[in-house]
Amino acid sequence: MAIGRLHSVETFGALDGPGIRTVFFLQGCPARCMYCHNPDTWNEDDGEQVTVGEVVSRARRGRPYYGENGGVTFSGGEPLLQADFLIEAMDALRRDGIASAIDTSGTYFDDKSEDVISHCDMVLLDIKHIDPSGFKELTGREQGTLRLLIDAINRQEKPVWIRQVIVPGFNDDEEYIHELNEFLTRIKDIRKIELLGYHNMAEPKYDRLGIKYRLKGVKPMNSESLEKLSDLTKIK
Ligand code: SF4
Repeated sequence: MAIGRLHSVETFGALDGPGIRTVFFLQGCPARCMYCHNPDTWNEDDGEQVTVGEVVSRARRGRPYYGENGGVTFSGGEPLLQADFLIEAMDALRRDGIASAIDTSGTYFDDKSEDVISHCDMVLLDIKHIDPSGFKELTGREQGTLRLLIDAINRQEKPVWIRQVIVPGFNDDEEYIHELNEFLTRIKDIRKIELLGYHNMAEPKYDRLGIKYRLKGVKPMNSESLEKLSDLTKIK
């Protein structure tokens, strides 16, 4: 039986997918996003080791609250790093009648990733940046993995929620949103597009971990401007 590495668990999560959800934040991420809130998820060797049985039994506790739409979300870190564990866990959850979503960053894709996508009920896709150069600057990774992931999501015909963090001075202009709309037309089944405003609350965490915070001095995103940009998003 596969063993997973878990960073933390959130019960009654209302933000990471539809309905009320139990969110498992998995340990390990190949990206180094400038605004990452959880740099303590980066190291693949950290975190608590868990079995599929433990995950299922924690997920079962939330069942009275899931209703029609809720369930489990596997977030991170980058969950696609733990394919074998996820496939087993999602199979077990499905046998229990619990739906599962994957919250992925598009910064990682390997020969098991499509199998993971085929096992989930929906994908939360964080678009880091639509341009290869912006993607690289923000995450330290090449954008090719995002394109492979989108192809797999389309082949598997999974519904998708898009999330895009808006950072002042980086992608907070109308032109970016129009280009984002255009970029997203390549995804078959988008149900929602959500813009999230950058905030700098993670900065003290970086100081504690001794990691350089690359967005030092960048102000949090203004909520009025974010709303205006959100009004420009559109699902084809
Ligand atoms: S992909 Fe997510 S967990 Fe990984 S560095 Fe970026 S924001 Fe952090």
